[in-house]
Amino acid sequence: MSESFYLTTPIYYVNAEPHIGHTYTSVVVDTMVRYHRLCGERSFFLTGTDEHGEKVLEVAEARGQSARRVAEHYSNLFRQTWDELGLSYDRFIRTTEPGHKSVVQGILQRVYDAGEIEFREYEGKYCVGCERFLTDRDLVDGRCRDHERAPEKRTEANYFFKMGNHFDWLTRHIEKHPDFIRPERYRNEVLAMLREESGLGGDLCISRPKSRLDWGIELPFDENYVCYVWFDALINYLTGIGYPDGPDFAEFWASAEHLIAKDILKPHAIFWPTMLRAIGLEPARHLNVHGYWNVDDRKVSKSLGNMISPLIMKEKYGFEVFRYFLLRDMAFGLDSNFSEELLVGRNNADLANNLGNLVSRSLNMTKRFANGRVPEPTESEGPESEVIAVAERAVAEVDVQMRAMRPQRALEAIFALVDASNRYLELREPWKAAKDAELAGRVDTTLYTCCEALRIIAILLSPFMPQSADEILRRLGIEGELDGAQLPQSASWGGIPPGSPTTKGAPLFPRVDLDAESE
Ligand SMILES: [Zn+2]
Repeated sequence: MSESFYLTTPIYYVNAEPHIGHTYTSVVVDTMVRYHRLCGERSFFLTGTDEHGEKVLEVAEARGQSARRVAEHYSNLFRQTWDELGLSYDRFIRTTEPGHKSVVQGILQRVYDAGEIEFREYEGKYCVGCERFLTDRDLVDGRCRDHERAPEKRTEANYFFKMGNHFDWLTRHIEKHPDFIRPERYRNEVLAMLREESGLGGDLCISRPKSRLDWGIELPFDENYVCYVWFDALINYLTGIGYPDGPDFAEFWASAEHLIAKDILKPHAIFWPTMLRAIGLEPARHLNVHGYWNVDDRKVSKSLGNMISPLIMKEKYGFEVFRYFLLRDMAFGLDSNFSEELLVGRNNADLANNLGNLVSRSLNMTKRFANGRVPEPTESEGPESEVIAVAERAVAEVDVQMRAMRPQRALEAIFALVDASNRYLELREPWKAAKDAELAGRVDTTLYTCCEALRIIAILLSPFMPQSADEILRRLGIEGELDGAQLPQSASWGGIPPGSPTTKGAPLFPRVDLDAESE
């Protein structure tokens, strides 16, 4: 098992407010990093903002503000939102930081000196939205597929990175490492893109003349140009951990993984590995790619006004419920649909009825039949062994699924233990057994089994719903449980000390009635 773990979100572009898509990406990274920390691995969570390029200038001009001021405004908005949602990032990087600028210039100079950058004239179809020249593949009826606007014809003298030099190597790398790009559908997509880019010569334009764009990092070898925004942005993954000679750089880079939405697959799967190759670095271990969130079965867009603010969701339902929904409802890699009805349905079924009920029944009965203290168990029988077996399977399964970047599958494994514990409680019926002289001796074991199952559920759930997990542990009287604890040992059966003082508490996840809500 690896000793360290480094996972990045993309840096978010500073021309819009954080919405459901950004939130999902950041929440998955937060969950993964929390999990690896729980395994005792040295972990690093990098996020931040991408602040250069033409789209920022467009917004600035429309508002009569400076590009710097627009970038500052949106960058703060992202950081404040993640802070308010409790995301546990280690570093929030901004591409306008002086330190990032000098890393980018150092890399440009190095690639230039190695003869991998060439200056020449180019004519093509340019999309301002994408900030790049488009290929025929990007066009639908003569319009940019992503921006639904017609590209402009542009001729420019520019600098080109000869990334095609590295395509044979990259193809072999992808073939040799089947899980480099995952899930697999995106790997196949990248191999197809590579063949297409190869046919086009494999050059990447990495400059913009200052005459029309000066909001960027100046090329160290030509003061009349700034660096293309993608070439600048991707390098944040190195700057963020102290490239080139920071004390943690080598360790974290060796364990690097990226997490992105599928719209930025090409820059991450083709531009970035070839750039790294040109400066002598290995590519990241994994490029994890997720699908899109639709809202009420429609594509998320500014014009539809269905962006879904995470702060509004927090206010309405509590952020952990929203977070749970995002992690549970999207099969990683595929598109998924959000609606408040679906969210409320998940809350009521999984959280209120299932997990919430297990918590309240277990703790109410511990109060009633064991004076509120976790009892000492007597011997285990078949039904107890069954719960223990499901708990052991859950711990192992969560590990497999988290390392394969399948958070929704990990949650399924945790909820299999919730289900098994509820079934067990129905089978043992401690509320009846307590009144039956012959069965009363069994009640302590039943309550112990439920409390211990809850402890393990809370530990496994803590990366997904940190506050709810803390609250369950607090009610079990073991709030310090996660301090210095390491999976899998911390979740092995029998960890809860008999005698722990438990607390009943209010319902952990109140049911939501959507009709009452909308009145
Ligand atoms: Zn476009």
